[in-house]
Amino acid sequence: MDLKALDNINCVIFILTALDGTKQNGCIINTAMQVTLNPIQISVTVNKSNYTTDIIKNSGAFNLCCLDESADFELIKRFGFSSGRDTDKFSNFSDYKTAANGINYTTKGTNSVISAKVVNTVDVGTHIIFIAEVTQTIVLSDKPSATYAYYHKHIKPAPKQENTSDKSKTKWICKICGYIYEGEYLPDDYICPLCKHPASDFEKME
Ligand code: FE
Repeated sequence: MDLKALDNINCVIFILTALDGTKQNGCIINTAMQVTLNPIQISVTVNKSNYTTDIIKNSGAFNLCCLDESADFELIKRFGFSSGRDTDKFSNFSDYKTAANGINYTTKGTNSVISAKVVNTVDVGTHIIFIAEVTQTIVLSDKPSATYAYYHKHIKPAPKQENTSDKSKTKWICKICGYIYEGEYLPDDYICPLCKHPASDFEKME
């Protein structure tokens, strides 16, 4: 199967934020969409291993922050490359406000924010789909949304070509952050050391 076909589902990059008691957290996703207009419902699909998933399971609420083309790599690194279980993603960060539901949302590189309350949860194996009713919407700018394709072309830094690396060696590149793994075979359980994404997010470099 040529998985490249799936890249043509042109999705946008989001920061999904949630509140665990008093701790604000968020993660990067590219799997949100509108489900119905009356009532206004959206869905977000999140990996079960994410701290944000656990928080939403318990709290039943989240903010979906739609990133725009002015979003920089630092913002994506902050929310996407570490777990909120070990870090406070809002520390030393001032580009946020708090929505009516008490959950923070990013104001930098973000064109809109959608607050929602979970009404249905679907277990799809590795991920959970939260279907949620929209409770508040905020439009911050009219900049175009950052698609996954735009992120790869313009936001993610170009992969570093190490001088010492052996050109004859097979290389695998992480499609999320650009990390390069060298080796004939990429182990199925390999986890990117930089962004913690699984082997399925790597592709063989030609
Ligand atoms: Fe990575």
